[in-house]
Amino acid sequence: MNNFLKEINFAKYSSIRIGPKSEVLVIEEVGEYRGHKILGLGNNVLISDTHPSFAVLGSTFDYIEKKDDLLYVGCATKSGKLLSYAKKNDLAKFEFLGKLPGSLGGLVKMNAGLKEFEIFNYIHSIKTKDGYIKKEDIEYSYRHTNINTIVYEVVFNCTYGYSKAQSEVFKKMRDNQPQVPSAGSCFKNPANDSAGRLIEAVGLKGFQKGNMAFSIEHANFLANMGEGNFDDAIYLINLAKQKVKEKFNINLEEEIIIY
Ligand SMILES: Cc1cc2nc3c(=O)[nH]c(=O)nc-3n(C[C@H](O)[C@H](O)[C@H](O)COP(=O)(O)OP(=O)(O)OC[C@H]3O[C@@H](n4cnc5c(N)ncnc54)[C@H](O)[C@@H]3O)c2cc1C
Repeated sequence: MNNFLKEINFAKYSSIRIGPKSEVLVIEEVGEYRGHKILGLGNNVLISDTHPSFAVLGSTFDYIEKKDDLLYVGCATKSGKLLSYAKKNDLAKFEFLGKLPGSLGGLVKMNAGLKEFEIFNYIHSIKTKDGYIKKEDIEYSYRHTNINTIVYEVVFNCTYGYSKAQSEVFKKMRDNQPQVPSAGSCFKNPANDSAGRLIEAVGLKGFQKGNMAFSIEHANFLANMGEGNFDDAIYLINLAKQKVKEKFNINLEEEIIIY
């Protein structure tokens, strides 16, 4: 299939429901796309009206194939689809993907996870335009990787024994999560602390500017209370960084990616 352009309304597409309508490139062929920033399903991003050109992966990259003890998964595959596959095929280690929204490309770039369960723990290699790169050759840590190119496929080591009990534990961990639109955690947790605790300690839990707020249920979730906009989101992000720096001398670092 050939690449094509399509219009995306980011106020509907992104999980935080902010952004303009823009034309994006839908990639169906492995290649080098220097003029474009790659996006997944928009669950960890805040998009301005002046964002760079975006590309997303098309359906060519939505597949799951198992060969021997390796699982080859295209990066347009949604986390929920991978979880269902693991359940059906009795594969372990994917249980944490329940309620962790995203495409595999976004999950791997962000090293997404829950507590000590992070996606990089289970991967074998990634495929980029230059071929396969082994996990050992990639730098990764909590919510960070040094991936700076488009990932088209991820290869996982298979281990067997899907755990329904563990999947229920993960689901319960999300019970207190706000139901309003957000991009998940706004800031990374600083070493040995929690961004939510710090935001609450500087009095910003539930604090609202326009229609954006640090959620009253979970202070580190920047919530869109309805028609919230980019400028108010940025105002709150900067306010939290400034107050936490003043009170605790800690530099909060955004987890969400701002374009
Ligand atoms: C309600 C809610 C709860 C969440 N809970 C968690 C949680 O518990 N733990 C957690 O880790 N995250 C959590 N998140 C954040 C989000 O689920 C993850 O970051 C997810 O990996 C984002 O995937 P995405 O496809 O939406 O990526 P996007 O938001 O579209 O993009 C995120 C980043 O990935 C890059 N990217 C996307 N695709 C590719 C690709 N193919 N190749 C290279 N780079 C790519 C983008 O350039 C961007 O830098 C939550 C989000 C929400 C809305």
